[in-house]
Amino acid sequence: MSQPPSSALRAIPSIAQLLALPQAQALAACYTPALVTGALRRVTDALREDIRNGAAPLPAPQQLVEQAQRLLVQDQALRQHPVINATGVLLHTNLGRAPMAGAAAEAARQAALHYTNLEFDCQTGSRGDRLAPILAILREVTGAEDAVVVNNNAAAMLLALSCLAQGQEVVVSRGELVEIGGSFRVPEVMAQSGCTLREVGATNKTRLADYEGAIGAQTAALMKVHCSNYQIIGFTQDVGVEALAALAHRHSLPLLHDAGSGALLALDCYGLAAEPTVSASLAQGADVVCFSGDKLLGGPQAGIIVGKTRYLAQMKKHPLMRALRADKMTLAALEATLKLYRDETLARQSIPLYRMLGEDGAILTRRAGSLLSLLPAAARAMAAIVPSQAQVGGGSAPGQMLPSVAVAVRAGSIPLNVLAQRLMRGPQAVIARIHQDSLLLDMRTVQDAQLDGLAQALQAALLPLEGA
Ligand SMILES: *Cc1c(COP(=O)(O)O)cnc(C)c1O
Repeated sequence: MSQPPSSALRAIPSIAQLLALPQAQALAACYTPALVTGALRRVTDALREDIRNGAAPLPAPQQLVEQAQRLLVQDQALRQHPVINATGVLLHTNLGRAPMAGAAAEAARQAALHYTNLEFDCQTGSRGDRLAPILAILREVTGAEDAVVVNNNAAAMLLALSCLAQGQEVVVSRGELVEIGGSFRVPEVMAQSGCTLREVGATNKTRLADYEGAIGAQTAALMKVHCSNYQIIGFTQDVGVEALAALAHRHSLPLLHDAGSGALLALDCYGLAAEPTVSASLAQGADVVCFSGDKLLGGPQAGIIVGKTRYLAQMKKHPLMRALRADKMTLAALEATLKLYRDETLARQSIPLYRMLGEDGAILTRRAGSLLSLLPAAARAMAAIVPSQAQVGGGSAPGQMLPSVAVAVRAGSIPLNVLAQRLMRGPQAVIARIHQDSLLLDMRTVQDAQLDGLAQALQAALLPLEGA
């Protein structure tokens, strides 16, 4: 091995010297001195290593500061941060599904900052039940007898099945063996819950008699799963909750309904086909209904189980309950979200999902126009207002499109994938969609308050490529 070139090592500026440079001072103002010091240390450590390995001429001090800046930008991108969703997918699973209502966010914030009466009864001074407030409001808005809240709907299914059917059989239609986002598959959740899946019917058709024929001494429950992210069309038949519940009850069995997206309100006023509502499922006789908090409910990530006390009481005592229970911030946000549903008009206005669903073409076109007007003329010349198609997404309303309006961008010299990358990597990340020969910014998932940030990001992304 050659000797380390000690003169080169000695020539590396000290952290203090680098920090004194005006560029480093500007960075410190933006990121805090401690973060900049840490980044400069990583840069000089790496340089020392390179010199020892025989590589690397010594860069100018300014270049070292620039390297540190790139590290800080990368760190920033790694952190969880708000993004502008211009994809037109309202419940985008990769972008955190439903944005919450202001009241829900504020309730989570208060719960986070303070001690709360999570498990304390302020009337008696004795231990309280963390689910009591949620239970009261869920009863009110769904008609449920009892309720449990866990971390997501997958956890809800795991708990319900483990509790009701461990070591026994659950009868499910072959047309309803759903997979959600890769890691949730009905047959696998069943296996994990220790119960045996008894498949009945065919992919496209299942009749009541198919369920009836499968019921035996080993059967613990019948289960219906909402096909929330696909459609079976053509020569099809399935059995509704009402008939299935009646059959289950004739055999003294519970009907478990995985309602998936957990709509509490009808969607037909937005031109969407009916999703099963939780209260309808209960009213039609389902004994236990599971659904997500962050899909069509428009709240925090959560799994909600509602139904008859004789089944829910067992779940509350199950060892998995402790492992899967929701925390105080989730419960606070969920309670605040559910309270909005006491007044349907208020819910439709204040829950972002419903506000986005309800905006008409005129509002969306006006928003697109505002975005264009915020752009400098050169950037505006590359953009046009076009019709587009939004969708609910997040495993809800599969295959159904919502008419929408987008700003289509075409930047002659910049390839569309480069433009999309620049937008998502910028300090205000924007997630857009490439469609045919333009980049689409769908106005249905963008808020008016985001237009300034969106215009700035777009303007920066449209700067000519270096060397072009
Ligand atoms: C979304 C969904 C799930 C999984 O819910 P998470 O809250 O994502 O865990 C399970 N079943 C159905 C039918 C769904 O639509």
